[in-house]
Amino acid sequence: MPSKKDEIVASFDSSVIPNYGRADIAFERGEGIKLWDTEGNEYIDLFSGWAVTSVGHCHPKLVEAITEQARNLCYMPNIFYWESQGRLAQYIHDRCFGGQSFFCNSGAESVEGAIKLARLHGWEKDKRYKTLSFSDSFHGRTLATLTATGQMKYHEGIGPLPPGFDHATFNDLASAEKLVGDETAAIIVEPIQGEGGINISDESFLEGLRKLCDERGALLIFDEVWTGVGRSGKWFAYQNYGVEPDIMTLAKGLGGGLPIGAVVARPEIAKAMKPGTHASTFGGNAVAAAAGCAVFETIEEGNLLEQVTELGAYMVERFGKIAEDTGKIKEIRGVGFMVGVELNDSGADVVKRALELGLLINCTHDTILRIAPALTMTRDEIDDAMDKMAKAIAG
Ligand SMILES: *Cc1c(COP(=O)(O)O)cnc(C)c1O
Repeated sequence: MPSKKDEIVASFDSSVIPNYGRADIAFERGEGIKLWDTEGNEYIDLFSGWAVTSVGHCHPKLVEAITEQARNLCYMPNIFYWESQGRLAQYIHDRCFGGQSFFCNSGAESVEGAIKLARLHGWEKDKRYKTLSFSDSFHGRTLATLTATGQMKYHEGIGPLPPGFDHATFNDLASAEKLVGDETAAIIVEPIQGEGGINISDESFLEGLRKLCDERGALLIFDEVWTGVGRSGKWFAYQNYGVEPDIMTLAKGLGGGLPIGAVVARPEIAKAMKPGTHASTFGGNAVAAAAGCAVFETIEEGNLLEQVTELGAYMVERFGKIAEDTGKIKEIRGVGFMVGVELNDSGADVVKRALELGLLINCTHDTILRIAPALTMTRDEIDDAMDKMAKAIAG
């Protein structure tokens, strides 16, 4: 008789487009940082599915907020008001640069919206339309956001790409200076590159970009889809720097697992998005917004920003010890619960061994392990996971 997993896999094989490489596991249940598959095996989730399940799996507060909202009202279109969208916007507004939010459903949509807002604003002002982005960046999979994405492997086979995009080198201010002109509407940058392999912006780089934008009349967009909502130990990663953006994008961890994204803009820029210029049918959906509110409340009530800062540093320290013991680690880059561990050799075997030990981690660019646990992870849980991690790396 086929197992439950075999049946699930068979349904995918016949009926789901095979655009993902999937590991041979079907998950059934999660609680906090733990997960269980259909065969009853237990795993520690150190990746949170690209930093999405930000307060852990099925956090009681999140589940309560979602069910309560679903019981009352799931959906209304954006030609009316409802409580949860307004409350979530206020949480964001009060914790960033006083930005106003436009809600959508994913990271790509939030970046697409930010690029569009920069064009609406720039065209009205003095006919600006271009967006400058950086090498190794990742901004999404729609045609415009993919064009902004500075990893050329993603551009193959889908051309012609939309015009109006330039690329400079990450952390190289001089390369950006050469490309910002009268037609540049915006510079977009991730304060910490997630998909690029946890690459951290230099303070002087972000300061220089801010100055460049101010001098030459362009907007500065921070793509915080990976880094936003507590991941870096601050509400937003830019708050680790003395630099504020004009527009910020959020998604991944914002809904704690429910799909929601946001374009967050200074009010004077946001007003270029007039009725009719932009919209999203599901944007700011009542249930997804309620989940977003629960994420903010859980982080605040648990003092998780402080905890993430402290325990993120602890995690880096533990990796430092593993580096000493094994000699297999080239570099450790971490801010909060966003840690990249660059190995000397390919990480595929480490990921496989970790899985056998019941640890879910991720490897990108062949050699970079990415660790992004739920912001709720405790020191004891980290100790347990890092003991296993040491074994997986040692081999
Ligand atoms: C993941 C990601 C995106 C795209 O988000 P999706 O929800 O997959 O569309 C955009 N920008 C950054 C920085 C990301 O990490």
